[in-house]
Amino acid sequence: MLQSSAQTRATENSSNINPTPHISVVGAGIAGAWQALSFAKAGYAVTLFDRDDEAMTQATSHFAGGMLAPWCEREAAEPVIMRIGIRSLDLWREALPDTPFNGSLVVAHSRDRSELERFAKMTTEHQRLDAEGIAALEPALEGRFREALFFPDEGHVEPRRVLPDLHDKLTKAGGTIRFKTECNPRDLAKDGNLVVDCRGLGARDQEPNLRGVKGEMILITTPDVQLARPVRVLHPRWPLYLIPRENNLFMLGATSIESEDKSVSVRSALELLTAAYVVHPAFAEARIVEMGVGLRPALPDNLPRITIEKNHISVNGLYRHGFLLAPALAELTVNFVQRGLIDNEVMQCS
Ligand SMILES: Cc1cc2nc3c(=O)[nH]c(=O)nc-3n(C[C@H](O)[C@H](O)[C@H](O)COP(=O)(O)OP(=O)(O)OC[C@H]3O[C@@H](n4cnc5c(N)ncnc54)[C@H](O)[C@@H]3O)c2cc1C
Repeated sequence: MLQSSAQTRATENSSNINPTPHISVVGAGIAGAWQALSFAKAGYAVTLFDRDDEAMTQATSHFAGGMLAPWCEREAAEPVIMRIGIRSLDLWREALPDTPFNGSLVVAHSRDRSELERFAKMTTEHQRLDAEGIAALEPALEGRFREALFFPDEGHVEPRRVLPDLHDKLTKAGGTIRFKTECNPRDLAKDGNLVVDCRGLGARDQEPNLRGVKGEMILITTPDVQLARPVRVLHPRWPLYLIPRENNLFMLGATSIESEDKSVSVRSALELLTAAYVVHPAFAEARIVEMGVGLRPALPDNLPRITIEKNHISVNGLYRHGFLLAPALAELTVNFVQRGLIDNEVMQCS
């Protein structure tokens, strides 16, 4: 049903690009990894390039939380994010059936109850939980909060595991990956190949309106708290979240600051660490493993865009939602190349 609603927004375009024998995808972050894999699965010969090495530590995707939360995101994002995000959930399930879909929990302390009410009003597909319901879902949080919202259909991935998984799937599907290879998509397109440009902030030569939105994160570890799902802590000034990862790790995220500075401020570190302590006092004894910053690639309207110009297709502006949107954006690109379908909300042809 959701897929058909996406199709109602699609129109046929007679000037579609015919299938080409070879597709070059530039940028192996979450956008490029999904584009390359989707084209390879559709039968195209694909080469994926990235200037970084396999660890991908320079990509924004390396620092992400990996939440797949289309209903929670509706609190602050446009409806198109939810529409494309919901379609992506199915694609994640298909490609990586082990993806955890344990839902998301949204909590607030009693003094911030109005924030929880506001969040409930702005979103759908949630259940209200009382203290008992919270403890049943997350025993570690027993007695910590009186009320919560539970979004049962949401999921999350671990970006530093899922990127290599997607790259691996690409090679298994017949694609090639070239790391440590910087390229100019325009030059690749001159050979007549179809090029999908997923360079994130590296694409400023093409998209001068791109800006980076700073997101700080902290990784901590403790064996004393177990959580099964992301927990969002609402607060009037700093709504933050905690995401459980393997081996007793937790990611605390994330600030959102209009700056391209790549260092973590004392203020942000204090706020992120306080959020963890607010969720459970045992986090006070956790150890800090890493502090990091990713710059989210954003266009002026903070919405994703697929721009099609002859045999150069640019996929960018994934902003706060790269993991949520990348699978369905890749599906839209493949649909365009194969059948000329255009999703009027996110695609622009020139
Ligand atoms: C702290 C934080 C938390 C986040 N949490 C979430 C979340 O929970 N859920 C969610 O959906 N999103 C989240 N995001 C947003 C998400 O991380 C981004 O939307 C996404 O990573 C953008 O992906 P991308 O592939 O467009 O860019 P990138 O990941 O930056 O990838 C671009 C790649 O292009 C390569 N490149 C650039 N120029 C060239 C060139 N000339 N030649 C070759 N390679 C090149 C770069 O090396 C890079 O690897 C978060 C972001 C941050 C910072």
